[in-house]
Amino acid sequence: MKSIHVVGGGLAGPEAALQAARAGCKVTLFEMRPHRSTEAHQTADFAELVCSNSLKSESENTAPWLLKQEMRAAGCILLEEADACAVPAGHALAVDRVEFSRRVAARLEADPDITIVREEVTKLHEHSDDHLTILASGPLTSPALTTELQRLTGTDHLSFYDSIAPVVDSTTIDMDRVYFAARWDKGTADYINCPFTREEYDVFYDALRAAHEVEAKEWERLDYFEGCLPLEELARRGRDTLRFGCMKPVGLRNPRTGQTPHAVVQLRQENLRADSYNLVGFQNHLKFGDQKTVLRLIPGLEHAEFLRFGQIHRNTYIHSPSLLTETLQLKEHPQIFIAGQLSGVEGYTESIAAGMLAGRYAAAIAHGTPPEAAPRPSAHGSLIHYITHADKKRFQPANITFDLLPPLEEDLRKNIRDKKERHRLQCERGLTAWSEWLRGGTPTSSRNSSASWPLLFRNPTGKAANPPLLHRSLREAVHSAAKGQQ
Ligand SMILES: Cc1cc2nc3c(=O)[nH]c(=O)nc-3n(C[C@H](O)[C@H](O)[C@H](O)COP(=O)(O)OP(=O)(O)OC[C@H]3O[C@@H](n4cnc5c(N)ncnc54)[C@H](O)[C@@H]3O)c2cc1C
Repeated sequence: MKSIHVVGGGLAGPEAALQAARAGCKVTLFEMRPHRSTEAHQTADFAELVCSNSLKSESENTAPWLLKQEMRAAGCILLEEADACAVPAGHALAVDRVEFSRRVAARLEADPDITIVREEVTKLHEHSDDHLTILASGPLTSPALTTELQRLTGTDHLSFYDSIAPVVDSTTIDMDRVYFAARWDKGTADYINCPFTREEYDVFYDALRAAHEVEAKEWERLDYFEGCLPLEELARRGRDTLRFGCMKPVGLRNPRTGQTPHAVVQLRQENLRADSYNLVGFQNHLKFGDQKTVLRLIPGLEHAEFLRFGQIHRNTYIHSPSLLTETLQLKEHPQIFIAGQLSGVEGYTESIAAGMLAGRYAAAIAHGTPPEAAPRPSAHGSLIHYITHADKKRFQPANITFDLLPPLEEDLRKNIRDKKERHRLQCERGLTAWSEWLRGGTPTSSRNSSASWPLLFRNPTGKAANPPLLHRSLREAVHSAAKGQQ
């Protein structure tokens, strides 16, 4: 049986290593620290949380909760350790970072099937007869390994920073203030246009200039491409620069007034359901609080809820829609799996989740069993579906959000007015599909099958939790939608 080499002792790597070892594989885990560090890591510890200590929301029926519930159901080892060293953080799961790293290291060191090698990996063996590789070297992959990855994937398939425009929940846009139009009425009127008067523009511009940027660490300073400058940088160049750039109003006459506005913000549909829109050209590096204040000065977005704020930061990731299979293997080199942030998922929890999947998939292949991809309705399946099927031209890393989950049927959406109830139903579907997948996903050999593939949903206190029940209103809506279909 082939052994498994895991590159990277951050979040995805240790989880992948522990999962593969649990499934009966011999694993070698490579970590380059302390001999060589990244610009963000401060220690030589495994599972170092480089910034915040939060693994996001534990509020029931939120997307991050769904992901974590699935991870718990699957026996995710890092999440088990996170639960064991949680610190009070309201509705979020936050951990004591030192204790978390210590616990993960203890698990790795205690595992007889894991060998730890503190060494930088600079060469990948895509045709090895004796091992499979899980690459989990993260957003700050060392330069030598980045070059090696480029050899395997081609130079056009690696990105080095995220430049993210804010995304707004379409149900919170004031549709009486905005209008659909295509510039010069050419093509279909797909964009929502938010028109500014001169006075509104001045207020917006002054607020933008006064907003605070996220303080960039030395290593984060980026040489921006001229074609992708942050909003605040453009604003610094003059009061009207934006009006000649991403807020250009020409050809976008407002049908309500018959006039061309002083400036326009265009919103572009994010997904087929049209329930989220991104603000075109609005990538920025402002603090989230200030960003919300400034963006709510855009006519029509006064009460907007933002699903994502703009961000720009260093991040190495592959072009997964072109390169990766749904079982996280390079299409051209299936012996190499990509896990964690390098695969285009974003965030600590998402990286651990991708590590867990990669460890299981690689173990299945080592055992000679073709792996079955995570089911689409689950949070895991949705995240991986997104990175492997996203629009190739506009691919950007993503956290888990409801936006990535399969939508409810049209009838259900119409009948269930309460968004929380809709989310609850999506979560229930996700958990059901996930537990069915886990039941079928047993590896051919594992050291301890009952501990390896637990099906119980557990909450952070370790108590078994009941599977989510349908609310009465939700049941009624489902019932009436079903009747409507008959
Ligand atoms: C500065 C920064 C702040 C972030 N803050 C947050 C946050 O607050 N919340 C959040 O949810 N997400 C955050 N992220 C995003 C992301 O969730 C984390 O980067 C996360 O640690 C990714 O997990 P990973 O396992 O993919 O990579 P990492 O945790 O970075 O692990 C990769 C490991 O690979 C090692 N490595 C690299 N190259 C080699 C090599 N050639 N050979 C051997 N080892 C190598 C590195 O030393 C590292 O230990 C942040 C990212 C960055 C860069």
